[in-house]
Amino acid sequence: DRGRGRWHLFSPLDPGREQLNDRILWKEEIAEALHQDRFELHFQPIIDLATGAPCHMEALLRMRDREGGMVFPDRFIPIAEKTGQIQIIDHWVLSQVIEVLASHPGLRIAVNLSGNAMVDPTILRELKRLIQLHSLTPERLSFEITESVAIDSLTSATRLMKSIQELGCRFALDDFGSGYASYAYLRQLPVDDIKIDGAFIRDLPNNQEDRIFVKAITDMAHGMGKRVIAEFVESAEILDVLEDIGVDCAQGYFFARPAPLQDLE
Ligand code: C2E
Ligand code: CA
Ligand code: CA
Repeated sequence: DRGRGRWHLFSPLDPGREQLNDRILWKEEIAEALHQDRFELHFQPIIDLATGAPCHMEALLRMRDREGGMVFPDRFIPIAEKTGQIQIIDHWVLSQVIEVLASHPGLRIAVNLSGNAMVDPTILRELKRLIQLHSLTPERLSFEITESVAIDSLTSATRLMKSIQELGCRFALDDFGSGYASYAYLRQLPVDDIKIDGAFIRDLPNNQEDRIFVKAITDMAHGMGKRVIAEFVESAEILDVLEDIGVDCAQGYFFARPAPLQDLE
């Protein structure tokens, strides 16, 4: 991590050592899971509040451990980003989602992209190839990147987002409000949808400040011609507030938990 031309002595007393061992073990675990095809996608519907019907689904990645237990992405994605394995994972997710779209003509799916994808020159080419191969309508595919990823690699993220939009796919800015949430970035980034971070949604019925924030973001987004999606919608009370505010779409356990495609059907 600290670059080349350095040496570092590891000892059992070194607090970094456990972390390093952990990372090496996880790297092997991820490699094995990729090799043995132990990744799977779950899907969570996103509801259009104007119609009450699902408008699309978000693809959420899971890994199975050797015993078949489910491992959530917060556990392995940060490590895969450090080891570089995230590139293989991003491509795997993309190809799986395209296959689902090709075999289920009614569906629309949103895919999460990692920070690495912003600087991966092959992702756009692969996307074009797969869309053509299956003659997909590009609007059926959308992408989500987090606010912090977009801002960390602002130039390359903007470029990739523009190219993907030229193909006809949509783009959402994920976890909005968790980091910089600045108007300057929002103005520069070519996003169609804003996903307000769940931290501002889960206490909406009791928290007046959150309500003010969500309302302000929603009005601003609408003024800019963007749609607003709220995540972590866990109750009817939260949904009521969101409808009052005028948020466009909602996603959360109140409607459905992420599940394998056949369960959602
Ligand atoms: P995210 O994109 O913000 O995804 C939303 C997370 O909130 C998901 O966690 C989802 O299961 C969870 N969630 C949905 N509704 C509710 C709710 O009502 N209440 C609560 N408390 N949680 C809810 P998950 O699936 O564990 O994913 C965590 C993160 O991992 C995602 O956050 C995303 O950043 C990343 N991730 C997931 N799949 C992929 C992927 O295919 N590629 C990449 N690069 N990252 C992924
Ligand atoms: Ca997401
Ligand atoms: Ca999110």
